[in-house]
Amino acid sequence: MPERMEHHDLLSGLVRLHILHHAAQHPVYGQWMIDELARHGYRLSPGTLYPMLSKMERDGYLTCRTERDGRTARKFYTITEKGREGLALARVRLRELKGKGNNE
Ligand SMILES: [Zn+2]
Repeated sequence: MPERMEHHDLLSGLVRLHILHHAAQHPVYGQWMIDELARHGYRLSPGTLYPMLSKMERDGYLTCRTERDGRTARKFYTITEKGREGLALARVRLRELKGKGNNE
């Protein structure tokens, strides 16, 4: 798997929206999100995704709780109210892009 996603800077906003979309359905953790994004054609390494999740938490879009299972701990992320607002706004903006031809 390549270390960096092609067109990373351009697409990283879409990746964050995708994370919000899933975190609105159920709590998500890093490896699950990496696999899910890969299914959609986004190849992200843990070194890219984990800092992205942390930043989204710091920015107030996600909340995080750690679940321990024996010696292993896993961080689960859930969408916040601010995240839901951002996601709803982004869906409106994306609709404006969708289906646009050359003259709009
Ligand atoms: Zn998905």
